[in-house]
Amino acid sequence: MARKPRYVALCISGPHLWAALFDNAGSPDRFRPGITPTEYERLSGKYDRDKKLVQSVVRSFTPRPDYIGMTVAGDLDVKQGVVVSAPNLHGWENRPLVRDLRRKFRCRTTIANDAEAEGLGHALYVANNDERVWYLLWDYGFGGSYVTPGNPPGVVNLEPGHAIKLDRNGFECGCGRRGCLEAYVSGAAIRNRFKVASPEELTKSQWSTVLPFLAEGVRVMLDWKPADRVIFGGEIACCFPQLVASVAARVRGDRSPNQPPWFGITRERLGAKVYGGLAIIARDYPETAKANFRILDPA
Ligand SMILES: [Zn+2]
Repeated sequence: MARKPRYVALCISGPHLWAALFDNAGSPDRFRPGITPTEYERLSGKYDRDKKLVQSVVRSFTPRPDYIGMTVAGDLDVKQGVVVSAPNLHGWENRPLVRDLRRKFRCRTTIANDAEAEGLGHALYVANNDERVWYLLWDYGFGGSYVTPGNPPGVVNLEPGHAIKLDRNGFECGCGRRGCLEAYVSGAAIRNRFKVASPEELTKSQWSTVLPFLAEGVRVMLDWKPADRVIFGGEIACCFPQLVASVAARVRGDRSPNQPPWFGITRERLGAKVYGGLAIIARDYPETAKANFRILDPA
């Protein structure tokens, strides 16, 4: 019997690295997190060291991957397969990661922004394919993509964290400008502003100063690109669903409960991070698109 192709999905979000191995049998409903971030050494931002870590993670799953799909929280040049800029990966800029992985494993390797990939993964594996969706990643940063129905679904990374300016003279953002939505609501911004190690430490009254900004940001997004559904992914949204509910109530205001947009949280927490990698493999290598995927344990 022919050997089944092996698909490795990698996600680099902030300093964390997630990974999972899939084959092409079974149902995507059986996604579950492959590995939790605590099982990895954190990325250092030093390219050569991190490249070795990424390679050893891939090798720990399989010495012979057929496809690698990698998603990164940051600005990418997908054609060149390089990171243009990403928080915590300052030593990675313009380094040939995709080329290096292709050479090392002699396999097809593709890369995409994480919000774009997760939005596509949501459309391919979770959602009904007849809705316009804002897929928001409320995490260390704040990312988002807009998904439109189709076969395959359309997905565009719109970077709402920076595209939406709440106040020209507002907080300074990691991108160097002021007043970006991300500078108000991202995990990194919250940590800096309230001097906490983690968003978990925020008090209710501190959150109540953050949520109106997020609600305003989502309202601007919906005016920009109307959607049937707003789906939140990312650690903050998944750990604190009550915050998403509160944002949803603010955005919806007095609209009828039967009217869109509907709000939700991805039912996959870490799983969403890795099915993003799988989704871009399916998109970029059409011969794999019909495969149903099943997550596998490390070899
Ligand atoms: Zn910004």
